[in-house]
Amino acid sequence: MNALSHAQTALITGASSGIGATYARRLAARGYNLLLVARNQARLQVLADELMTNHGVEVNLLTADLEQHADIEKVASQLRSDERISLLVNCAGVALNGSLAEADIDSTHSLLQINLLALTMLSSAAAVRFSLAGRGAIINIGSVVSLLPERFNAIYSASKAYVLSLSQSMHVELSGSGVQIQVVLPGVTRTEIFERSGGSLAQIPPSMVMEVDDLVDAALRGFDQGELVTIPSLPDSNEWQALTQARLQLAPNLSHNQPAARYH
Ligand code: NAP
Repeated sequence: MNALSHAQTALITGASSGIGATYARRLAARGYNLLLVARNQARLQVLADELMTNHGVEVNLLTADLEQHADIEKVASQLRSDERISLLVNCAGVALNGSLAEADIDSTHSLLQINLLALTMLSSAAAVRFSLAGRGAIINIGSVVSLLPERFNAIYSASKAYVLSLSQSMHVELSGSGVQIQVVLPGVTRTEIFERSGGSLAQIPPSMVMEVDDLVDAALRGFDQGELVTIPSLPDSNEWQALTQARLQLAPNLSHNQPAARYH
């Protein structure tokens, strides 16, 4: 396990608000220097000033629109070349309000670029360099909707299922490399994401809404414990282990040279 330690740099996408900004505060408190990525430079600068003053760490900004290939490449290139970076937090993400039938091509394209393509290419860049260094960690922010696609809108849920699947595969591909992978599955968390996507938290029972500080603190405890999948709300982690075991038990029967008897 890679315990978080001092004098290393964390690159955090989506650092201008919500979960990403909270990771920035927590990692600065742990002594990390930071490279903060988002579009809103003014908000990043306010956060950077706060963290440099309160924690004496070095904070740099990388303004990027992760819908744009050139900007994804700009951040990936930083991950490939800056040997001080040992932690990537892939937090930038957007949600969509509405069903698949209501999807428009522009907002769907934006979501896929940010939630899938940017996260994938940044993970790839970090994985290559961290593996060569023999140390590093990648934290991907997924969602519990990846486990409940029947209960949430199709495109966002599917994007988060991709994040879970990618992270599980990365964990296997990078085993023995010294690179730690964690995927965090938040439930409903009080941030701007709902208003940004035209939704609201107002209809959601307060008992289902976690405060962002609690979410990130729990996620970092899961990271410290070396968890691959962290579900901050789930009281009994044995339930997740049981689901994983049940899924893996299908493995011997998922590819045969004949269809199953019921299809004869
Ligand atoms: P948020 O407060 O809306 O933060 C989203 C972040 O993503 C912002 O920093 C935003 O920065 C950045 N971002 C959005 N579009 C971007 C773009 N085109 N290029 C670069 N950065 C962009 O929402 P949040 O809840 O903290 O979301 C963080 C992650 O948590 C997302 O991946 C989300 O899917 C996941 N999540 C959230 C919840 C929840 O209930 N809140 C639950 C499960 C998972 P700029 O606008 O400055 O670019």
